[in-house]
Amino acid sequence: MVPTSSTPNVKTIAERLTDVRIRIENAAANAGRDASEIGLIAVSKKQPTAALEAALTAGQCDFGENYLQEALPKTEALTATTQTVSPIWHFIGDIQSNKTADIAAHFDWVHTLDRAKIARRLSEQRPSNALPLEVCIQVNIDQEASKSGVSPDQCAELATIVANLPGLRLRGLMTLPEPRNDFAAQRVPFAELARLRNELNGAGHILDVLSMGMSADLEAAVAEGATHLRIGSAVFGSRPE
Ligand SMILES: *Cc1c(COP(=O)(O)O)cnc(C)c1O
Repeated sequence: MVPTSSTPNVKTIAERLTDVRIRIENAAANAGRDASEIGLIAVSKKQPTAALEAALTAGQCDFGENYLQEALPKTEALTATTQTVSPIWHFIGDIQSNKTADIAAHFDWVHTLDRAKIARRLSEQRPSNALPLEVCIQVNIDQEASKSGVSPDQCAELATIVANLPGLRLRGLMTLPEPRNDFAAQRVPFAELARLRNELNGAGHILDVLSMGMSADLEAAVAEGATHLRIGSAVFGSRPE
């Protein structure tokens, strides 16, 4: 038999998106939150353009990409094929200084800012006809040696620098914690990021975004106030290598 796109047991991207949206609604209800205040970013790294088009057709506008070289052809393809909805592009990978011009030109958001030098370059290189780039500071909440992100005690200093750059609009904090298995343990780093955000707001910042929660821990992130979930495998299936 020739396999078709309707092969039983293989969910379509539209079905997976529906499942994820239901998970978010349930998590929001459990936390006494309104699901409409929680954004879903479909993390499309290593996925082909057709997968992103299927998601866009199913009403998914926000996409997260980690690798600039891989992302640029997708941003071009989707922008060209879009009729009614425009995709919104979130950069969620490590940023090298030689990539800042393209990131500033082709993305709407950057979630992984962790150095003043990169912040200044992105601000200078943001095209003058575009709105400021929306940015989150990445916090290395578990203080892992191998992870990107500022340590929690360096966050205030970088926030002040970013808030004063004209090409950037500081929106909030992002984190990518070590994987933890149970719900209570998953909540700990997310609660810590929320606490840090509140501390910065107490010091005069106006941060409304907490970018936290992935396929395996979105419920814990919603419980701790996530406003932007970054979900890959639950939307697209496991990633091709
Ligand atoms: C890959 C990735 C995700 C999504 O991970 P899943 O477990 O597939 O949901 C989220 N955030 C960042 C920064 C990532 O690199």
